Amino acid sequence: MDKNNVRKEIYRLTERINEARREYYEEDNPSISDFEYDSLMRDLEDLEKAYPEFAYPTSPTKQVGYVANSKFESVFFEQPMLSLGDIFNSEEVIDFASKLAPFHPTFVCELKIDGIASNLKYVNGMFNLGSTRGDGSVGENITSNLKTVKTIPMVLNQDIDLEVRGEVYMSRSTLNRLNDEKMKKGEDLFKNCRNAAGGSLRQLDYKVTKERDLDAFDYTVVNPEKYGIKTQIEALEFMKNLGFNVNPHYRLCKDANEILAYLDEWKDKRDELDYDTDGVVIKVNELELYDRIGYTARTPKWGIAYKFPALEVETELKDIIYTVGRTGNITPNAVLTPVMISGSLVQRATLHNEDFCLDRDVRIGDFVTVRKAGEIIPEVIGVNLSRRKEGSVPFKMIEFCPECGSRLKRIENEANHYCLNKNCKGRIRASIIYFASKGAMDIETLGDKVVEIFFNLGYLKNVIDIYKLKDYKEQLMNIEGFGEKSINVLLDNIEKSKNNSLDRVITSLGIRFVGGKVSKILAKEFKSLDNLENASYDDLIKIYDIGDAIASSVSTYFNENKEFIDELKSVGVNPIMEDVSEGSLFKGKSIVLTGKLESLTREEASSLIESLGGKAATSVSKSTYLVVCGSDAGSKKTKAEALGIKIINEQEFIDLVNNNK
Ligand code: NAD
Repeated sequence: MDKNNVRKEIYRLTERINEARREYYEEDNPSISDFEYDSLMRDLEDLEKAYPEFAYPTSPTKQVGYVANSKFESVFFEQPMLSLGDIFNSEEVIDFASKLAPFHPTFVCELKIDGIASNLKYVNGMFNLGSTRGDGSVGENITSNLKTVKTIPMVLNQDIDLEVRGEVYMSRSTLNRLNDEKMKKGEDLFKNCRNAAGGSLRQLDYKVTKERDLDAFDYTVVNPEKYGIKTQIEALEFMKNLGFNVNPHYRLCKDANEILAYLDEWKDKRDELDYDTDGVVIKVNELELYDRIGYTARTPKWGIAYKFPALEVETELKDIIYTVGRTGNITPNAVLTPVMISGSLVQRATLHNEDFCLDRDVRIGDFVTVRKAGEIIPEVIGVNLSRRKEGSVPFKMIEFCPECGSRLKRIENEANHYCLNKNCKGRIRASIIYFASKGAMDIETLGDKVVEIFFNLGYLKNVIDIYKLKDYKEQLMNIEGFGEKSINVLLDNIEKSKNNSLDRVITSLGIRFVGGKVSKILAKEFKSLDNLENASYDDLIKIYDIGDAIASSVSTYFNENKEFIDELKSVGVNPIMEDVSEGSLFKGKSIVLTGKLESLTREEASSLIESLGGKAATSVSKSTYLVVCGSDAGSKKTKAEALGIKIINEQEFIDLVNNNK
């Protein structure tokens, strides 16, 4: 980049970041994601480092937060409230720890609560003054609002003068409850917990704040030496003893490896918490080192914020393509400028259906927010209208099937368009992929890509052909990318699938409205494919939990697919369900599995519970009979303890099951 362009780019980034900061800090209404903001900041920091002569003295890279709003009284800090530097990957963690190695520190990892920083002053053990962080030197007096936060103590367990810092946040359950109420009233919803907390805390009328049901975690003691505190861990315990709400998940780590283990543990486990965390704060534990290690204008050098990989990212929608599902349902899919979300590269995301695209006015060329949570397929969740390009064209649903050219039909009261041609190759291919998939027959190594190759070469013309692949072993071994070993494994997996349980086989038929749960009910009731096939609508509707839609769908399916079911049985897929004995151990009981199981998968443990008459439930309540806890069990274990429900570990569970058998 020539120097003139560098100067322009620094100006552009500075302006953009300042605008984002105003929206985020002052209006609690950001227009770009945190991920994008952090990337812009990094770009600006890099350019300023390379060309310091062009950096503005008031650059956002040197600022903390925002200037306090004049609608609140100002509060001046004796000790500045700083921000934290950001890091995003393990190399940077190792780098942070190794730069500090000469000081021989230990570290404390704390969850980074996604809320609003606050400063709390106590006089003689009584809450006296509370403020926001503002620009780090001057905050806003929001004492009356902070008094409504139920987890900020008004009176301490000791009559001391004290200043502490922490984060005020809105819990996820509160956000959901308030958004439900807003939805009923037709009001705009809160975008997320952080914005909701910010908007609620900086209110002129404390009664509004009170209604928002906020919480707080505290993590810093100002001037700790006054109280003889020597480490951050001691500071946290000191606050806990005084009655502050201290997040319980902090941990002492001796080195980078232990820090990395903590980060790895919390990257998924944080989903189980009832509050948002956007990272982990890594701090040196020995407080006497703080002044020796030092500070920059904006951040301490003895602590840093590791940011979890983003679950939501904004990127450009380059094109919309359509896929055909096994039932003929047509899904519009976004082709995206590839972007990393939660550690994986995302290039496609679902746009669900015509209504979704029209409601959000999605257009090719737009910048869209994409979300990826857990195992779920990435989805577009919104459009950034402020970045819309001129001349963009409104969305229009296709009229013909992209695979077979038949005219599509939108079924009344449904959002989906369908291809009704049963011989559509898109539908057939999708049904083979579905049949072999993890949730259905779970034929390992027969994934989408392999099905696609065999389908295109004519070895898989339908589902039954899966069980005939063994007749083409020689030919399959010679396909590029395959060999004797991989084909043997594949054929072995296919053979093994013949032993699948009845409910799995029912699921894999792909009957409308019949997923895993309904399949289990049908399997339990009818015990064999023959019995289910011969069941009439009247037999089905009699079953508790089976309504009209499922009963008609199942009876229609078996009437229309007799030949297919016969063929399936003739290739060897014809499971029979063993009887569950009446006196089963868990009969009618609800059992919850939580934490990481070592020797059983979740599915295996659930099947064991069901085979003994119980129900594997996902949440703990008063009616839970038993909780089986693996390692790192979180909130479910805590809840079970609070409710006095029996808790056993994985080995005890296995012993219990074995003894019963
Ligand atoms: P930060 O959020 O990256 O980190 C510092 C803050 O973390 C502290 O001030 C404190 O409030 C908080 N924190 C939470 N738990 C903590 C703990 N256990 N110990 C210590 N501190 C803890 O820094 P920031 O300056 O508050 O905000 C910058 C960040 O805000 C950006 O990285 C970005 O993610 C977000 N932001 C987004 C936009 C946007 O437009 N989307 C704009 C501005 C800022």
